[in-house]
Amino acid sequence: MDSLTAGIALILVQFCIALVMAGVYFTARTETCTRYWSLASCLIALGILVAIFNNRAFDPVAILFASATIVTGGILQWHGILAFYKQPASSIGWYILVIMLAAMATALFFKAVPQQRLFISTPLVTVVLILSLRTIWIGQGGWPRSFVQALAPAGIILLLINNCVRMVISGMQLTGHLSLDRSILEILAAFVVPTAGMLLFSIGLLLLYFERMVDENRHLATHDELSRLLNRRAIDAGGERELELALRLKRHLTVAFIDIDMFKRFNDEFGHASGDMVITDVAAILSETCRNIDLVGRYGGEEFLIVLPGVNQDDAVTVGQRLVEAVHRYRFLGVHPVTISVGLATLPDMTCSWDQLIRRADAALYEAKSLGRNRYCI
Ligand code: GH3
Ligand code: MG
Ligand code: MG
Repeated sequence: MDSLTAGIALILVQFCIALVMAGVYFTARTETCTRYWSLASCLIALGILVAIFNNRAFDPVAILFASATIVTGGILQWHGILAFYKQPASSIGWYILVIMLAAMATALFFKAVPQQRLFISTPLVTVVLILSLRTIWIGQGGWPRSFVQALAPAGIILLLINNCVRMVISGMQLTGHLSLDRSILEILAAFVVPTAGMLLFSIGLLLLYFERMVDENRHLATHDELSRLLNRRAIDAGGERELELALRLKRHLTVAFIDIDMFKRFNDEFGHASGDMVITDVAAILSETCRNIDLVGRYGGEEFLIVLPGVNQDDAVTVGQRLVEAVHRYRFLGVHPVTISVGLATLPDMTCSWDQLIRRADAALYEAKSLGRNRYCI
């Protein structure tokens, strides 16, 4: 393999990444991270193109331009990662660029050979890569928790190791331990490994972006925006699943239907916004009062449904009491005291459908309302 073929392959891969990144950016132009990443890939591709076609020539302007665009690309990639994890932008990258330009200009003034110039650009690119790795590490809270989260760090680590190898090769060439002619080892370190590293890094970033988008969409599809609880579809699906498990494993199961008492009054007296705040607060109280394994959802306007796996009739009474008291005790901001009524239904011995269980909880709720509200019925 000769260096020109390997170099052209690297440029092509970089330009393809740049195109893909630009495409992703144009599908959602409000995203800051993809804007940074597409711009970064374009700059890195351009820098490599200039560097490779200026390979053996000594053109200070071209060398400075190539180094500056590659380092700026790295900095923008890091800025994209900062934006992705909603961290503030940093000016450290621009100081690194200024240092690199000053050092490179000095080296060119003294007619430094490519192996010597490598000792200026490579350590600074390494610093930018470490900053990117650090931001990902902090952003995802330590070690990767999914395959996708491991890809971009793997790409960065590959590039970091490769940078060290390149400096060792250049050092050996300068001290005469290795020939100045392009060896296969040098071609690997200069073009082949960077191609793999850049691919992993950039595609890893893209996949992180898609993973977050899928998670957000899944959350939107299963959660209610106002209360942040499960929506009706999700609580029904979760409830049916729990019922099936309870029937198969002969375990207890209770559902609680909850309705805020005289809620229309809050809307009429204090306005719709205060009504919304009451819904949000009641949702939070219900969530806090329940266990982690319970499913809590908003079933309709001011109605909630809780699925309590493993809870029998005796425990259900305790849960009902606890829910009613927790809401009654809470001091709601700017409105008069809020109370709830709770209808509980436990799974009988015989088989029972999800609809039947819900209907029984609803009937118990109706009873709690007719007995004067602020209570539970089972
Ligand atoms: P009861 O004790 O019998 O349950 O009396 P209620 O006033 O709570 O009864 P009803 O179910 O008739 O009233 C519910 C009201 O909730 C009607 C509707 O205007 C209001 N509502 C429904 N969804 C929302 C919402 O998302 N936000 C607000 N602020 N109000 C809502
Ligand atoms: Mg009500
Ligand atoms: Mg109601």
